Amino acid sequence: MSESKSDFTLSAEDITKTYSTESGSVKVLENVNLQLSKGDFVTISGPSGCGKSTLLMVLGTLQEPDSGNLKYNDISPYRLNQSDRASFRSLNIGFVFQDFNLVPYLDVKENIMCPGILNSSVDLESRSSELLQMLGLTDRTNHYPDQLSSGEKQRTALARALLLRPRIIFADEPTGNLDHDNGRIVLDCLADYAKSGGSVMMATHDRAAFSSGNKHMEFNEGEIIESKSE
Ligand code: ADP
Ligand code: MG
Repeated sequence: MSESKSDFTLSAEDITKTYSTESGSVKVLENVNLQLSKGDFVTISGPSGCGKSTLLMVLGTLQEPDSGNLKYNDISPYRLNQSDRASFRSLNIGFVFQDFNLVPYLDVKENIMCPGILNSSVDLESRSSELLQMLGLTDRTNHYPDQLSSGEKQRTALARALLLRPRIIFADEPTGNLDHDNGRIVLDCLADYAKSGGSVMMATHDRAAFSSGNKHMEFNEGEIIESKSE
């Protein structure tokens, strides 16, 4: 994106998504409309299976919707070809997956540096060291994912998402598998990121986590049924 980071708006208009399987089709998103701006930290909750992960993946340009319009300022990522969309994603979007998705044969530091393979606009060495310190992972720098606790894996996944300072972080139940202290570290880090001018959208079941955000959306059967701002 060529515009300054100060004028970021994500808008989704009439997004629909249906999965087709051998046993039939499942309508997951139905005319979803939302807007998110720089500095917003939006939490989304709703029963399991209601479409939270699908929504994050559609908004995060990982899963193309059937219809509707997604815009990052004036750019429609799904109108870009695959390679332009991948480079757009690497510059603008960080993703924290529920099950971490760490690369098993890379150590903590290498996992964190991964997004820099496509884009090395930052000093990877100093930025990754800064994140290791910020997330309390310095003494795990050269551990492999199978040598980490869940909290350490999630903090590594979060550091990886933050590496290139994306405009927006999508986090899918990032505290779901964590104890209270690790959950707090993750939430505080996401809240600080939004305060420092990033944007965050987080799916969560954790009621205590809602207060970390400034907007909350209740989601059910593919629709936003309630939307509250601070
Ligand atoms: P949530 O994150 O709220 O639990 P999901 O977005 O993961 O919900 O899933 C919404 C619905 O879509 C569920 O009923 C799930 O079974 C279905 N679903 C998710 N992914 C697929 C897929 N790849 N193919 C078919 N159905 C899917
Ligand atoms: Mg989910």
